[in-house]
Amino acid sequence: MVVPNITIIGSLNTDLITRTSRIPAAGETLISSSYDTGCGGKGANQAVACARLSRAKDSRVEEAGCTVNMIGAVGDDMFGRDLINGLVSNGIGVDEVRVKAGEKSGVAVIIVEEESGENRILMSPNANYALRPSDFERLPDPLPDLIILQLEIPLVTVLHILKIAREKDVEVLLNPAPAVKLPREAYSAVHHLVVNETEASIITSTTAQQHSWALWGDHMERLIDLGIRHVLITLGAEGVIYIDTEVQRVLRVLGEKVTVVDSTGAGDTFVGAYAGMLARSGKEFRDFHTMMHVVACANRAAAKTVQKGGVQSAIPWRNEVSLENI
Ligand code: ADP
Repeated sequence: MVVPNITIIGSLNTDLITRTSRIPAAGETLISSSYDTGCGGKGANQAVACARLSRAKDSRVEEAGCTVNMIGAVGDDMFGRDLINGLVSNGIGVDEVRVKAGEKSGVAVIIVEEESGENRILMSPNANYALRPSDFERLPDPLPDLIILQLEIPLVTVLHILKIAREKDVEVLLNPAPAVKLPREAYSAVHHLVVNETEASIITSTTAQQHSWALWGDHMERLIDLGIRHVLITLGAEGVIYIDTEVQRVLRVLGEKVTVVDSTGAGDTFVGAYAGMLARSGKEFRDFHTMMHVVACANRAAAKTVQKGGVQSAIPWRNEVSLENI
């Protein structure tokens, strides 16, 4: 059986996380209460979610419901090697992760203030920004069944990939984060758009307000206008709205009632899980009923992530998400 091939094109970063009782003032040095490192970057996080949701923990990679490949760039340094090894340990193909000579790998320096839980993040994209259109004179051969893109690599590269994906008729999922409004024609290459409420506000040029059907309705109307078939607005603890613009149906899945430990990476798990479930369901069976199942599973997988600390380490495997009664 030929399994679908999902290719994630995006960022890889090392997270350097320190925790402190309070944020140091200008010129002050404080001793942190803990320090940790983790593999991150939206691209890599979504690749890991996709790979894990396609098979059970400890199962063989060959048993997965899809193959997952990553395309991105790291520097020729220790962080880069660890980022690649992290993907490999999840069964993700890394043949097309470029090692950029003379560049440093992407890094996110994160300071978490323990009492408030607030974090301050300084991101250095480094090698991620060295991923240029010239790295994509053509798409991988054989062509992927689905390409997943975010916006943590240069916009010019994303626009170039969208253009060749459209020429080759490859299905694309876009998670426009961090949010930037793309030229309108770029959306015509997109089949699945996944945005959180902030991203929806930026793309639709509406002001972010508290959750309300009035706001969601406004977002939906403007997003539908972009001409994308599958539109998803993730609502944090409130769940998700899914719109199939072709059959003109809307689904609201309520958020799972869970105890939140750390909601970082919830959106990335949602995207990866959605793509993994989608690929398994087969293109020819993609009716509204199937999509309801796919969206509900992704919602459940993302709710699992928020119950654990860390980002990639909190992403569940397929057998850890209950797929019954959906
Ligand atoms: P992002 O992480 O991109 O900001 P959201 O906050 O909208 O995205 O979260 C993405 C998805 O993760 C939600 O649609 C939901 O499925 C799940 N999720 C996030 N926060 C919670 C929560 N507190 N309780 C249950 N599910 C959550």
